Amino acid sequence: MTEQEKLDQLLEGLSDKYQKLNAKQQQFAVKEIERVRSQMNDILADYADSEGIIKRTRLNALLRELESIEKAVRTNSMDALESIIKESSEALTVGIGTSIAAAGIAFDKVNANVFRYVVNRFGEDGLVLSDRVWQLAGDQREQISKVLRSGIIRGESVNTLIAAVRQVFANETWKIKRLVVTEGNTAYRVASAYSAQQSEVVKAMQVHRGKADRPDHRCTQLELADSYGMGRGIYPATASEIYMMHPNCTGYLTYVLDERWL
Ligand SMILES: [Zn+2]
Repeated sequence: MTEQEKLDQLLEGLSDKYQKLNAKQQQFAVKEIERVRSQMNDILADYADSEGIIKRTRLNALLRELESIEKAVRTNSMDALESIIKESSEALTVGIGTSIAAAGIAFDKVNANVFRYVVNRFGEDGLVLSDRVWQLAGDQREQISKVLRSGIIRGESVNTLIAAVRQVFANETWKIKRLVVTEGNTAYRVASAYSAQQSEVVKAMQVHRGKADRPDHRCTQLELADSYGMGRGIYPATASEIYMMHPNCTGYLTYVLDERWL
């Protein structure tokens, strides 16, 4: 097997392994938000009378408590995402640490720069990560307010209210999962590109479309395009269009070795 083939095999295997890690990261982030839901259940129980009903007169006080719930969703989500970004970057840097590509790479610097890039990156929506998390927490609070207000006015039991709040959290789960897929995979790809920029033996990067395998996805188009005259799907490691190809993208990058190492 040539050095190029060995490196291809390593990076493909690492990418598969990373997708399994990302699935765990999604579960982790969902669980961190679930912890806030149990806080919410305690608050509802506190507001209920002995018949398990929350009086209308207590509605406004209860809705004010949602301030702390929103804040907890924000903090827990942001903490989870920050640790996921670091873990994703390290999955790549540790994975290539003993390969031929590692020559010349200061991995600590790569990981620190990846974190900075992903956290400060502006998406197509013009927002950075913390803005997106604020949006998510705010939307969720609004939904919770709505179900509590209408439930309490109708005189529903606290158990019914708890079930309605659980449904709000369940409906929002896909949003946090999408954030973890997008930001985790971006961190992983940026770690790959930043490492390649420093490597003494890597000449370029090759794009591989994500698991969705859709012709209309940007990753598939980038895999087929020859934008730099270097061959189809081949890009300089500085080409930032391959770092985040589209939201929810699982596309990945492999390395093209300099001729001297073939
Ligand atoms: Zn994709």
